[in-house]
Amino acid sequence: MSLELRIDGLSKTYSNGVRALQNVTLTIPTGMFGLLGPNGAGKSTLMRTIATLQEADAGSILLGDLDVLRRKDEVRRVLGYLPQEFGVYPRVSAEALLDHFAILKGIQNRKERREIVTALLQRTNLFEVRKQNLGTFSGGMRQRFGIAQALLGNPKLIIVDEPTAGLDPGERVRFHNLLAEIGENVIVILSTHIVEDVSDLCSRMAIISHGRVLAQGDPLEAMREVDGKIWRRTIAKDELAAYQREHAVISTRLVSGRTVVHVFSEAQPDVSFEPVPASLADVYFSTLHQAEAA
Ligand code: ADP
Repeated sequence: MSLELRIDGLSKTYSNGVRALQNVTLTIPTGMFGLLGPNGAGKSTLMRTIATLQEADAGSILLGDLDVLRRKDEVRRVLGYLPQEFGVYPRVSAEALLDHFAILKGIQNRKERREIVTALLQRTNLFEVRKQNLGTFSGGMRQRFGIAQALLGNPKLIIVDEPTAGLDPGERVRFHNLLAEIGENVIVILSTHIVEDVSDLCSRMAIISHGRVLAQGDPLEAMREVDGKIWRRTIAKDELAAYQREHAVISTRLVSGRTVVHVFSEAQPDVSFEPVPASLADVYFSTLHQAEAA
């Protein structure tokens, strides 16, 4: 059987009283898993706890049969982590810094290390620029470097926290392709507030908000469940408040200066609404909307 990460009843309250995680229970299989939620949902808290960087108040995390919260050193040996803020030394070359990280990972043999570093630079498409200082790298190149260091030591569990924020569209596509390749044989958890990151890449996902899991499963299945219940109408901007009072408006978007609203409803609200095929964004926003309403 392939590896699974099982999170059970995980809770965390910060000293200021913020309940960042409230009884989080999730099963994360091998492959790409999207953890989707708005800013402040608790994603980083969950990622950092799985990455053994902070403690939980209650609950358990198992990677296969490894107790993640207790056997931190063993977890770190099989973990690759790309944090939200990945600082680099601007005056060091990509190759030199990756070599340095490899030493820290315990890869002592020089020749072996050189081969590993070269292979990772090639895999992340940074080999041509390996002698350049990291300070000259674009956001996308830096993120790919972040993935290269996260892959050192052949991790079984890879955690990437908000990796595509700030990337331009071309860089995002390259980064997505790289993640998709990696996600074939290991567990990759991708934390993001960007729906497209999940719809492009992930075969499983969870939606979290205010520290709680609102939904989890297969994104395609989730879309099928709301299909036929998403309705669209173009309105004038000053009509929005009235629509929000009368309907479950799950999202609004400006298209050529006009406001397009999506409404969640079992039946057609009225003839002025047209049905639209459900997207993962509709799943996400209707899930958040229902949680707020409850
Ligand atoms: P996300 O990654 O989804 O944006 P976070 O896990 O960073 O969410 O934060 C969840 C909640 O916990 C937020 O309300 C945030 O302000 C709060 N929080 C995060 N870190 C701390 C901390 N070290 N001390 C106090 N509150 C924190």
